[in-house]
Amino acid sequence: LMGPDGSLGVTIFEEITTLAMKHQAINLGQGFPDEDGPAALSRLAQEAIASGQNQYAPGKGILDLRTAVAEHQDRFYGISLDPEHEVIITTGATEALAAAILALTGPGDEVLTFEPFYDAYGALIGLSGATHTTAPLLAPDFLPDLSTLEASFGSRTKMVIVNNPHNPTGTMFPEAVLTEIVRLATKYDAVIVTDEVYEHLTFGPRHIPVATLPGAANRTLTISSAGKTFSFTGWKIGWLSGPAELVAAARTVKQFLSYSSGTPFQGAIAAGLRMDAGYFTDAAATLAHKRDILGAGLRAAGFDVYLPQGTYFINADTSAMGITDATALARRLPELIGVAAIPVPVFCHPEGAERTRSLLRFAFCKQIPLLERAAERLATLQ
Ligand code: PMP
Ligand code: GLN
Repeated sequence: LMGPDGSLGVTIFEEITTLAMKHQAINLGQGFPDEDGPAALSRLAQEAIASGQNQYAPGKGILDLRTAVAEHQDRFYGISLDPEHEVIITTGATEALAAAILALTGPGDEVLTFEPFYDAYGALIGLSGATHTTAPLLAPDFLPDLSTLEASFGSRTKMVIVNNPHNPTGTMFPEAVLTEIVRLATKYDAVIVTDEVYEHLTFGPRHIPVATLPGAANRTLTISSAGKTFSFTGWKIGWLSGPAELVAAARTVKQFLSYSSGTPFQGAIAAGLRMDAGYFTDAAATLAHKRDILGAGLRAAGFDVYLPQGTYFINADTSAMGITDATALARRLPELIGVAAIPVPVFCHPEGAERTRSLLRFAFCKQIPLLERAAERLATLQ
């Protein structure tokens, strides 16, 4: 596990997935879908391989995909981007995050994230040598306290990382929260990196990209990925967009992280980004139904459940069942009842870990019969 000092170890996803396999448990830990994305996109990638698109892509990504990213940002959000200078393709959102953090921060700088935070943020900030500061998201809404948020900013705050919709809590930041983050980032001259990989996996509230808020665009790098939107997590195609000089800085680092990203997948994802609006809304509706099934199962099993507004994760509180240490439970759950989940404290520094001590994160991006089977197994927990 990653230590609170940022030291690197086995990620929690590896640890829990290994346990799940050992005990043949239903793995609701690591977030990945158990069904492929659109077959038409899969065929396009296969055709690209068959037709010899198997050598390095251009470092910043093929023009067709950069153009499709720009079109997508315009179509859904009215954001206008120049595909030549304001978009790069990356090896998943993870590489986009790495490139942005390593390019723009270093020793002496502070990088602010909300807490709980996606584990890669802590590791990457550690690799950059910057100091990782956090602002808590508090149950039941998992939103920051706007009256105290400014105390998390200072003259050394070089970057603030926003993740909206938010992994692991499933919360979506309302406009007032995003506006306050932009105001503070501007006041303290911090770059905003916004990880919007779950932008299309939302169940009611409209997704508001940070870059659409007044005054935000010139200091905001927006990151997303094909993994979540198109259920191809293994293709590892992501993208980063924003002002040319910030994108250029990230691109400089990307050259030496991977040089370029999976050639035969890029055209297929370009086609995906151009699909009719129906694809995106249907995928979200299917996922909402799955959320409700697992949510009901968890509630019936005795957990207090926080139904998410976005992402494919549900947080469940074990304290209602008299269990206070969710991390210990997560390590035993695969063997105990054949279900795996991720403890939320692993997404926190020690103080936050104390606050989220009794929370488990369950992924519901799985086929309905499997979710129903998981619910049956969870019911045996009491
Ligand atoms: N950011 C968040 C918030 C995520 O949940 C994930 C997916 N695990 C990533 C980034 C990484 O995305 P990718 O697989 O495209 O690198
Ligand atoms: N993003 C996914 C999750 O949060 C998987 C991440 C990973 O395996 N690194 O579960």
